[in-house]
Amino acid sequence: ELVLVSGASGFVGTAVTLAFLEKGFRVRGTVRSQDKADKWEAKHPQYKGKIEWAIVKDIAEKGAFDEAIKGVTLVAHTASPFHYDVKDNERDMLIPALEGTRQILRAAQKEPSVKRVVLTSSFASVLDFDKLGPETTFTEKDWNPATYDSAKKADQPPYIYCASKKIAEEEAWKIAKEPETKWDLCTVCPPMVLGPISQPVGSLDAINTSAGAVWAVVDAKEVPETTFPVWVDVRDIADIHVKGVTEDIAKGKRYLCIAGHYDNTQIASIARKAFPDQASRIPDAKPSDGSPHFKTDSSLVEKELGIKWIGFEQCIKDTLSSIFEVEKEL
Ligand code: NDP
Repeated sequence: ELVLVSGASGFVGTAVTLAFLEKGFRVRGTVRSQDKADKWEAKHPQYKGKIEWAIVKDIAEKGAFDEAIKGVTLVAHTASPFHYDVKDNERDMLIPALEGTRQILRAAQKEPSVKRVVLTSSFASVLDFDKLGPETTFTEKDWNPATYDSAKKADQPPYIYCASKKIAEEEAWKIAKEPETKWDLCTVCPPMVLGPISQPVGSLDAINTSAGAVWAVVDAKEVPETTFPVWVDVRDIADIHVKGVTEDIAKGKRYLCIAGHYDNTQIASIARKAFPDQASRIPDAKPSDGSPHFKTDSSLVEKELGIKWIGFEQCIKDTLSSIFEVEKEL
């Protein structure tokens, strides 16, 4: 099998790429430049020369994936912007999310070898901000009500990001149901993805948004506010992407993938205990009891794909240890 992984140099994309390679799949990763591919191989020398690269400078360009898709049997579309630095809602967020999804799925429609596609969607695509509250239980049946037009006019970057994921996933299901589509779709909806970083990063400021939120407790004067209180480990998400295109039961499924609820005070507390030599860099705060602001139910993916979530303490230790390593190298 030849797997196309878009955004292979991203945080989730690298973990997904590694998961496929470890299981013996051939992988073609898309990156924006050869330089990114070279840095990726330098970080993972065991796969040097064992991974194919396709340069896709902008996933939103018409025909962006027409070359990269040739001969591919499985597709994992992870590339999409995840940051809050939005100056132009359409250019910086909505267009790459929506058009990127369209371009890769239209390319897959024209390539007869493609059998399965897994899309990295998000809990952002499930979440309805108006329903937040201790009585609500979110499942994969729920959809964020945001629209392209509401997001075009919005001024809160988290809202715009969440909307971008919703409209992209909605488009993916629309294309998947067209008669000319010959592959099956599975969508994965993770919350904040934490866990070890394995993508190449040029500086500590350039760590991706979600792992960066864990790193933000280090050298902070006070424990930073928790931006989003639900999490999952990137290694579990990578495993779900592999199963999403290999397990029969995953065909046509949307999976909510939440391991648990958390608070940054818990991160600080775990970090101080796990890294005593770094404790003076981490604020000392009483860990909250982590009582959830809303409920979630991820039992479908647990049951159907046999997922047993990596624990929070392990996840936080491994996240920070991977970033302390990068700090030493830089
Ligand atoms: P990263 O920023 O690490 O990865 C995003 C990837 O997408 C990068 O490889 C980036 O390339 C690529 N990309 C973005 N826009 C374009 C574009 N216009 N053209 C070409 N490539 C582009 O973030 P994550 O790994 O966290 O995100 C990956 C996916 O996971 C996204 O779909 C995101 O929505 C989803 N997700 C992430 C969560 C999280 O907490 N991390 C939670 C839920 C979903 P480059 O680095 O060159 O810019």
